[in-house]
Amino acid sequence: MNRIKENLEIINNEISNSAEQTKRKLEDITIIGVSKKHSIETIHKGIKAGIKTFGESYVNEAVSKIDSMNDNTLSWHFIGHLQSNKAKFAVKYFDLIHSVDTLKLAAEINKQAQKINKKQAILIQINISEEKSKSGINAEEACLLARNISSFENLSLKGIMGMPPFSHDPENSRKYFKNLKEIKEYIDKQNIPSITMKHLSMGMSQDYKVAIEEGSTMVRIGTKLFGQRQ
Ligand SMILES: *Cc1c(COP(=O)(O)O)cnc(C)c1O
Repeated sequence: MNRIKENLEIINNEISNSAEQTKRKLEDITIIGVSKKHSIETIHKGIKAGIKTFGESYVNEAVSKIDSMNDNTLSWHFIGHLQSNKAKFAVKYFDLIHSVDTLKLAAEINKQAQKINKKQAILIQINISEEKSKSGINAEEACLLARNISSFENLSLKGIMGMPPFSHDPENSRKYFKNLKEIKEYIDKQNIPSITMKHLSMGMSQDYKVAIEEGSTMVRIGTKLFGQRQ
């Protein structure tokens, strides 16, 4: 049994426990294997272990990996900061873009999606930490952005993504996760047409258990699954 398989078993057990404790359904929670800075060989081990959805943060790196793997049974999610000039590639290669944080970027993704006749699924990235260093936006801006996005025919808004400031104690993430859930529910209550606020992408290696307790539907796990990045 390889190490990634063992890691995944541990993660799956912990997710089951957290879900059970908070009466969540397991099928509502997706593990995204964050494979940025990991080799294709490592990704293949992940596939063997049972991972089907992978997260990448750098467009160029992802494009070359996805092209050389050429496996259309996998789902690729873009989780890094996206520059408008790379939107074309993000639309071509990714099923879900987690990091839409400006109207300009949304408009560019919509334009590129229109060109290839795709309805691009996206999440709005929220700046919950108010840390200037992390890209993202606040709740009211997020709601306004959601309204604007709803008018783009080639975008399908599915929820929000967020990242608490790093802490060694996962309990410190809890208040940020609660806040993200409130933002998601707030936007949901506005009844904005043609969006579905279903997904909460939150929780990483460090704090995914707490994230699930607080309603996460997508946990983005890198280090705990694949080991240290190069
Ligand atoms: C790298 C990254 C992750 C994975 O982080 P780990 O701590 O290795 O699990 C998750 N989300 C985003 C946005 C990332 O950039």
